[in-house]
Amino acid sequence: MSTVQGRLRIAVQKSGRLAERSLDLVRDAGLRVVKGNNDLLYRIENYPIDLLRVRDDDIPTFVADGVCDLGIVGENVLEEVRNGGPNAEVVMPLGFGRCTLKIAVPPTLDYAGPSSLEGLRIATSYPKILRRFLDENGVGADIVTMRGAVEVAPRLKLASAICDLVSTGATLEANGLMAKETVLDSQAVLIKAPTAPEAGLQHLLDSIIERMAGVVSSQG
Ligand code: ATP
Ligand code: ZN
Repeated sequence: MSTVQGRLRIAVQKSGRLAERSLDLVRDAGLRVVKGNNDLLYRIENYPIDLLRVRDDDIPTFVADGVCDLGIVGENVLEEVRNGGPNAEVVMPLGFGRCTLKIAVPPTLDYAGPSSLEGLRIATSYPKILRRFLDENGVGADIVTMRGAVEVAPRLKLASAICDLVSTGATLEANGLMAKETVLDSQAVLIKAPTAPEAGLQHLLDSIIERMAGVVSSQG
């Protein structure tokens, strides 16, 4: 009787800013991706590996829990989801998905440094990262958490400042906001479960990581 071989799982963003580049990395590492009729799962034809396609917010937890062995996610999301328990380990930065979490204010706010935020309401999708920044700077401010459309909060008088992801700055400009502080510089990273994979899969896991490292370093 033959043993049923387990499969490695790699969590990638299903659709969005990291989705295409994540698939490219997987393919460039020599994994042949086959899109099945199941949208959540893509199979790798030439290795016992599956790609789990999910929302980026779910990736750190899946990997931390060992439900997936590897994952590709932005440092911003990884930091925000980080908790007291066992966390996913960062294997390496991947050189794409670059963006910066910044604090921005309307021109009417006289900004002279973090202390200018004292007592204000700040809108963000990253309450934990923002709270840490404020604490580090000894600033007491109210944080209002919004899932999206953070940049319209000042205009709607929901907040006096925002803390949001910026890549080109076009969205800030379109909303009449000026970036003032960098809270986090982010890019996509490869993350790994804190626990070993299923029996017999460690060697494959190591070799996939090695191939991905090769692809990343060849891209400079
Ligand atoms: P999902 O549906 O998977 O939750 P999302 O809407 O949260 O997607 P995207 O907008 O697709 O996320 O962004 C995914 C990641 O891409 C971000 O978490 C961040 O790491 C990175 N990123 C790069 N540039 C930007 C940018 N200009 N704005 C937002 N995120 C960016
Ligand atoms: Zn998300």
